[in-house]
Amino acid sequence: MKKLVLSICVLLGVTATQAQKLGVIGGVNFAKLNVTDEHFKNLTGGYGGVVVEQSLGKKFALQSGLIYASKGGADKHDGHMDKFQFMTLQIPVLAAYKIPVGKNTVTIGAGPVLDIHTSGKLKSDDASENTTFNFGSGAGEFKRTDLGIGAVAGLEFKNGVFIQARGTFGLTDLDNVANGSVRSNVFGINGGYYFLRGKK
Ligand SMILES: [Zn+2]
Repeated sequence: MKKLVLSICVLLGVTATQAQKLGVIGGVNFAKLNVTDEHFKNLTGGYGGVVVEQSLGKKFALQSGLIYASKGGADKHDGHMDKFQFMTLQIPVLAAYKIPVGKNTVTIGAGPVLDIHTSGKLKSDDASENTTFNFGSGAGEFKRTDLGIGAVAGLEFKNGVFIQARGTFGLTDLDNVANGSVRSNVFGINGGYYFLRGKK
């Protein structure tokens, strides 16, 4: 997994130095944990960061970035609500297809997304359940990284402003328990602005 993190960072670095577009992104997301035999509800959170785009010809581009995001989910049991929240540094590497619509561009894309968890906590209506998460490979710990598949659909205006919907479907079983699984899904709505735009 360390090699994977390293190679994605290198890819991100190469993309950033050669980027024809550099921008900021921010939005709100609706996160859910898919837990075996449980029915979690959405946890609303925020995210923000920087995005880079490398053009690959007229119709294709590689989109990446570094985004600080909230994910997790909420679980109601025994008359109270538990909110499981993970904070993560997210590195998407999305292959995007661009469709010109007048002077604007519709973009759809997909690709791997790596989440590196920086912290996590359970905040419960029942304060006695409150706890912070530990990350590692031990029992009772959550995995430090989460590899998922990301998808994005957006509209970019000629002036560099864009709006997007994006989803991330986690492939990693986040806990270290053999039975059952915990996977993270996130759906987000965001806006952003490419303040640096290279030649077309
Ligand atoms: Zn509880």
